[in-house]
Amino acid sequence: MKYYDKLIFELSKPGRTGYSLPENEYGRCLCCELPEGLKRAQAPELPEVSEIDVVRHYTNLSQMNFGVDTGFYPLGSCTMKYNPKINEEIAAIPGFNGLHPLQPASTVPGALAVYEGMDKALAAITGMAHFTFLPCAGAHGELTGLMIMRQYHMSRGDLARTKVIVPDSAHGTNPASAAVCGLEIVEVKSNANGLVDVEDLKPLLGPEIAGIMMTNPNTLGLFEKEIKEIAALVHECGGLLYYDGANMNPLLGVVRPGDMGFDIMHLNLHKTFSTPHGGGGPGSGPVGVAQHLAKFLPETRVSGFNGNFGVILRAYAYILALGRQNIKFAGKFATLSANYIKECLKDKYKLPIPSICKHEFVYDGLINDGADKAEDGHGATTLDVAKRLLDFGFHAPTIYFPLLFHQALMIEPTETESKETIDEFIGVMRRIADEAAADPMILRNAPHNTPIRRPDETTAARQPILKYGDQ
Ligand SMILES: *Cc1c(COP(=O)(O)O)cnc(C)c1O
Repeated sequence: MKYYDKLIFELSKPGRTGYSLPENEYGRCLCCELPEGLKRAQAPELPEVSEIDVVRHYTNLSQMNFGVDTGFYPLGSCTMKYNPKINEEIAAIPGFNGLHPLQPASTVPGALAVYEGMDKALAAITGMAHFTFLPCAGAHGELTGLMIMRQYHMSRGDLARTKVIVPDSAHGTNPASAAVCGLEIVEVKSNANGLVDVEDLKPLLGPEIAGIMMTNPNTLGLFEKEIKEIAALVHECGGLLYYDGANMNPLLGVVRPGDMGFDIMHLNLHKTFSTPHGGGGPGSGPVGVAQHLAKFLPETRVSGFNGNFGVILRAYAYILALGRQNIKFAGKFATLSANYIKECLKDKYKLPIPSICKHEFVYDGLINDGADKAEDGHGATTLDVAKRLLDFGFHAPTIYFPLLFHQALMIEPTETESKETIDEFIGVMRRIADEAAADPMILRNAPHNTPIRRPDETTAARQPILKYGDQ
């Protein structure tokens, strides 16, 4: 263990401090002047350390972490694209940065112009009429959108519509949001090509259906080619179509959900529109609706004030920087990168659905050509592949999702990686497949050179050590 791997509490020395405050003219420091009633009874249990201890502590912690700024991050369904630094500069402009949410609207015309500009830009990109910027995440947008859907049916006195159709390939948040909204979930199956099975859908439609939730391209990265027919069928039965726009990246500037027939949708600004995400930080999931639903857009109560303004601002800077002409290249290059990787590795990894993908695709583990060895991929699983990737400085892809395959390995490279980086990733993935064939123990014991090796995932989830001294 390096000396700086110690916890900050272990570095603590009584009396050591990183600051010194001047005394006032009476020889007392400012905190002594607090009224007795306001002082805490006991001193807080804070580590006593010098400034350099603090700097090293946080700098070293930051280096144990992994982010888009440190390496390739092909996490499927998450769109971990690069977050251009110009967005950060714009968000740091004092006129934006220093706003208070309770300021009168007349004093914040610039911020209002950002909301207005975003509303127009997103309407142009998606084919929706208007957006609300209150929701602070994708799932939050789903819930908001479903409440709009329910409100629409209720406003027409159509109270029987309590069920929502969700494909078996859907992101887990879809059925979860529907359940939170009080709707019953009806699952529609995928066909052998990984697309919604229209024949399976037809008998599900009827007077109890509030609508369908779809993402297109779906979570397998495949474009739902029959979306027009699906939209007609759902509308015919009186339902609405909800578009989970977290997967909008490959369609940017190319295809619009509004033109596919969707009535309500959300976007994940923290994915498609390049604002930082991960670790549960601030996000933004604006919800857009077609004109006939505009009156159901919420004005308050979905979240505090006007959503996460800083995130919305970063996304606006991104959209304006790319502009109408260039935004379509984002999706096209994201699609090209994904298909390139998919084709380059399909002799080493099982590709259950071989068709052209959009921004992401799914392998079903290693190809098992060593039948005399263990059942799956020479005894090495998708988890082992993911762990071994860490040794080479790559973030792991999404694993064991979607649930349609047992060894799912879902890769989304995004448009912001160079061909060189992508080729390096392909090279490492090939090497890992070869290691699995030659000596699977290399994978089973990976990672070998990360700060933390392989924790017991069950214990880590069931008995997490969440505070100092728990161990
Ligand atoms: C990421 C994602 C979501 C959820 O978004 P959050 O911001 O994490 O709540 C929903 N659907 C799909 C398809 C996603 O990829």
